[in-house]
Amino acid sequence: MADNAPAIVILGNGGLATARRIQQVLPAAQVLGLEGRVQGADHAYAEFGATLRQLYQSGAPIIALCAAGIVIRTLAPLLQEKGSEPPVLAVAEDGSAVVPLLGGLAGVNALAREIASALQVPPAITTSGELRFGTCLLNPPAGYALADLEQGKRFVSDLLGGETVRIEGDAPWLGTAQLPQATDARRTIHVGHALREPAVDELLIHPRNVLVAIGEAGDGLADEVRAVLRQAGIAQPSLAGLLAADAQMADSRVHQAAAQLQVPVRYLAASDSATRLTQTGLALQVLPGPLSIGVAARPLNMTRIGRPRGRLAVIGLGPGARELMVPAVQAELARATDVLGYETYVRMAGPFRDDQVLHNTDNREEMQRARHAFELAAQGRSVVMVSSGDPGVFAMAAAVLEALHEVVDDPAREDWRGVELQILPGVSASLATAALAGAPLGHDFCVVSLSDNLKPWSIIERRLDLAAQADLVLAFYNPISRARPWQLGQALDIVRRHRAADTPVTLGRDVGRPAQALRVVTLGELTPEMVDMRTMVLVGSSTTCTFPRADGGQWVYTPRWYGSKP
Ligand code: SAH
Repeated sequence: MADNAPAIVILGNGGLATARRIQQVLPAAQVLGLEGRVQGADHAYAEFGATLRQLYQSGAPIIALCAAGIVIRTLAPLLQEKGSEPPVLAVAEDGSAVVPLLGGLAGVNALAREIASALQVPPAITTSGELRFGTCLLNPPAGYALADLEQGKRFVSDLLGGETVRIEGDAPWLGTAQLPQATDARRTIHVGHALREPAVDELLIHPRNVLVAIGEAGDGLADEVRAVLRQAGIAQPSLAGLLAADAQMADSRVHQAAAQLQVPVRYLAASDSATRLTQTGLALQVLPGPLSIGVAARPLNMTRIGRPRGRLAVIGLGPGARELMVPAVQAELARATDVLGYETYVRMAGPFRDDQVLHNTDNREEMQRARHAFELAAQGRSVVMVSSGDPGVFAMAAAVLEALHEVVDDPAREDWRGVELQILPGVSASLATAALAGAPLGHDFCVVSLSDNLKPWSIIERRLDLAAQADLVLAFYNPISRARPWQLGQALDIVRRHRAADTPVTLGRDVGRPAQALRVVTLGELTPEMVDMRTMVLVGSSTTCTFPRADGGQWVYTPRWYGSKP
């Protein structure tokens, strides 16, 4: 249930100052700048239309610093399919106008007010009900849920038509609203958790004030929860969340039930469900039944109850450039509470918010870093472990799994096993280098790290010899370093035994980073001095070939066929 961070989209440097002012009141928001036009945004994007449409479809709130018309024309093709709509606003580049455009039910007006007050201008609110009553009745604040939207719309137009209203129950956010209240009104706003059919003249709003502490999780857990709520006479939208036992953290049936019910799960130590309700420390009215139900007087803030299931994501940043980082990784970085990794990569993954804790560690202590990640995640934090390229290619994913494997039977480490572990891929250096050069990996290839830090040199020699013999294209990671100066020379000697001197070799240095350099040489020309630890080496096979590019360089590719051309 990752919250979608708002995107502030700008087209030129002129909008950057306004974007940063908006970011001060919306710290989770990211500034997206048009590539080549904006310097110093949090992310670069290549194409305005595609970016805006993608954000809209992913449900991210959009704050576009450009003319309202541009935003309208760009999103128009998507507006037919009226599903859930994120807030969309146009803001004048100089901050002089804030115009909510879409997402009335997703709180666009509230967002407009917040941004406008930061920019010290009045928001351009156009929603009649909102203007008249100072609040959107159809969009109650967090902690409350509207029972029926269609009925709500009729209700609001009745009030706009001159009907008066009474409030039943506790609706503190309506205290400051300018509603036409009257004690003898026929229309009522009813706030309560009781299961009831809304009367014709009633706007029914449910507070999210009910907890269900679950017992043994079965396959039909969500249905079971629905049934006990019904039996207890409680409306399902009043369910704020589930309480499970720490021992159930890894139980997928619990996660599935929570997803089906669209509520969070929080964990407490007690295995007995009734005791778990007591452990919340809240004043709850406890209802007896097959599952323990606790009812609070006010909506519940689930983030303050028990602890969440911790999460550890091992992510790959790609070679460097933001555009080559997969969207799932970008989303993961936004939701992280803690970021671990080698300092260079942690810096590359930034910028981070003030509330995100960065743990920079030395590159060599991999296992220690992996254990540290589990310790943090087991406390319920959302931890990201960063690697460059892909995390599974000579990087942290295997170390993290090894750390977990070591404790797989350890009863004291049940908390680590409860962590939600996910590995998110990235574009590996060999693939990024190959794409720059053309398609040198277009046929079978073999990936070898030339580092003998964690494996004997003899095994590297053997693998090189056999792979070269098998006529595989070779991708060398960690080709050379100050501590390993001679290995590359020896590796090339082995390869040259099986491969012609005119075999194309692609060298990619700092690919996807500002200092990116690509060079194509032949195996005969290649010397270790051309290579350093930031270089990827792709040695061609017998079929790899080159030809001139229009811009002066060379294309390198390995054809899809082998043997003779089909
Ligand atoms: N997990 C990483 C690889 C880590 S090993 C990945 O999937 O890309 C480190 C080696 O990768 C370096 O010694 C270098 O050979 C290569 N490498 C990593 N990033 C690179 C880049 N941006 N350009 C060229 N080579 C790179």
